[in-house]
Amino acid sequence: MHFPPHLSFTFEMLRRHRHALAEIYAHRQPRLRLQDISPESLKQQGIEVLVLDFDGVLAAHGETVLTPELHSWLQSCVATFGAEQVFILSNQPRPDRIAYFHQHFATVRCLAGVKKKPDPQGLEQVMRLTGRPAAMLMLVDDRLWTGGLAACIAKVQFTYITRPYIRFSKRPVQELFFMTLRFLERRWAQLG
Ligand SMILES: [Mg+2]
Repeated sequence: MHFPPHLSFTFEMLRRHRHALAEIYAHRQPRLRLQDISPESLKQQGIEVLVLDFDGVLAAHGETVLTPELHSWLQSCVATFGAEQVFILSNQPRPDRIAYFHQHFATVRCLAGVKKKPDPQGLEQVMRLTGRPAAMLMLVDDRLWTGGLAACIAKVQFTYITRPYIRFSKRPVQELFFMTLRFLERRWAQLG
């Protein structure tokens, strides 16, 4: 059976990193939201660069602006990690999102023009831009088969958001699709 190249890549990488992803799942923190994470404690763990997913992590799927409660969290993140050490790595780097961050968080860079996660290209780009090794990077994502896998491939540290933002009333079809994917990838990770 022939799959498109990016799917073949994902399947091969899932096979290769399934134990690492099972470990991430086994050690997950239940109902973890982005605002539950302390930028200070990450810094104390040796993290120097933070890479954030957008959909589900900073806002519900398809949104443009981050939720109000995360505004001050992201500001404290920038203050903790320093200018240009915080990145957004979304598989949907839409121009309106990039413009939003440019306007409200001028030093936070949205990566665009890189291959979608689980391809590690975005994380490798962050390492190039910051000159920091993989061990000093932390990716925060609500998906195992995209962000989680990219982190495993790039050997970057990973925080699994287990209580993603969902706005079912606004985008029922899209949210149902991603809820199904999250369910499937969790089941798959349990098989390890
Ligand atoms: Mg996401």
